[in-house]
Amino acid sequence: VSDLAATSRRLAGLGLRRTTLLVDRRRAVANIDRFAARARSSGVVLRPHFKTHQSAGVAAWFRAAGIDRATVSSVGQAAYFADHGWDDLTLAMPANPREVADYAALAARVRLGLLVDHERTVDALASGLDRPVRVWIDIDPGYGRTGVGWHDGERLVAIARRVTATAQLEYAGLLTHAGQSYAARSANAAAAVFDVVRQRLRSARATLVAAGLPGGRLSAGDTPGFAATVDWSGLDEARPGNFVFYDLMQLVAGICTASDLACAVACPVVGVYPHRREAVVHAGAVHLSRECLAHGGQAEYGRLLALADDGFGNLLPGWSLTGLSQEHGILTAQGEPATAQLAALAPGDLVLVAPVHACLTCEQFGSYRTVEGDELLRFRRA
Ligand code: PLP
Repeated sequence: VSDLAATSRRLAGLGLRRTTLLVDRRRAVANIDRFAARARSSGVVLRPHFKTHQSAGVAAWFRAAGIDRATVSSVGQAAYFADHGWDDLTLAMPANPREVADYAALAARVRLGLLVDHERTVDALASGLDRPVRVWIDIDPGYGRTGVGWHDGERLVAIARRVTATAQLEYAGLLTHAGQSYAARSANAAAAVFDVVRQRLRSARATLVAAGLPGGRLSAGDTPGFAATVDWSGLDEARPGNFVFYDLMQLVAGICTASDLACAVACPVVGVYPHRREAVVHAGAVHLSRECLAHGGQAEYGRLLALADDGFGNLLPGWSLTGLSQEHGILTAQGEPATAQLAALAPGDLVLVAPVHACLTCEQFGSYRTVEGDELLRFRRA
């Protein structure tokens, strides 16, 4: 029996009928434990980003590894995790002046951290919050998304002055997301980005101290940089998120191995076309997102994983998801054994697709099934 056929049989044995998000708990827990150990040995607080999984059930695995604080990216996520007992949360988006009343409500329930990179936002928080909230200055470490430029001493000092002069705002420090590590094509290159960003944060803090202001703590979080670096010391807080599941994007960049991939989408085969070397599965952009890997002119939206008796197995060679519409995914078989496996495939078989970007794929589903057969609910946006 081929790995593909055995995988279909095992997925059917889990009672799956339609497109379902599956998680391998043992792999996710191993990923969590590895990062928790690294944080401990580096003397850094791990505050993982929960936007990747958005599930109280998965969060409980973090809790079991000794982690008691988290990062979120919306008021809704913060309220969801507060409902599930998480009482120390950083909302790692630049604060939105129109949501200050929501922040005030959250701050009554949890120790809340917010981000600012503009005086207007500082003023909005100052006038709308009735109890102390931790405020981080968002730093652009050269990624070019949000934040005060790490080298822009003048703006940095001006904003830090404003924050530290406001009684309701507890100045926490400098926070960054080094998204440029996603352009690295090897673990060494991602580690080099990490070193540069750590240096940039330290230099921004030195600018504040030289101006007579408190330097505060340094918080960074991106999976490529933190996965590629063993010693995180020099930072105070680590906020990666994707590492709990990893995905093909991290795999092709050399950031993880196939045995770290911990979430995948089980989907039914609905068409088989050996003359085209293709099969069609019920898994489209609404399930996987349109995130893709580009190889020359060819896009790749997923690869097939085997399911073994004790959890996810290896990637199945020669199988790739090469096309995606709203609900359909085109699976292409290249070479042997994929071509022979395609000849034996039939509608109703089930395959397991490793996603390109786990965070966006998980976002499409209301719950996870674990390999053990449990169901874990996720936060759903209103
Ligand atoms: N912090 C912030 C502000 C982010 O935007 C992100 C991800 O986009 C993270 C942390 C986590 O990074 P990653 O998804 O690489 O683990």
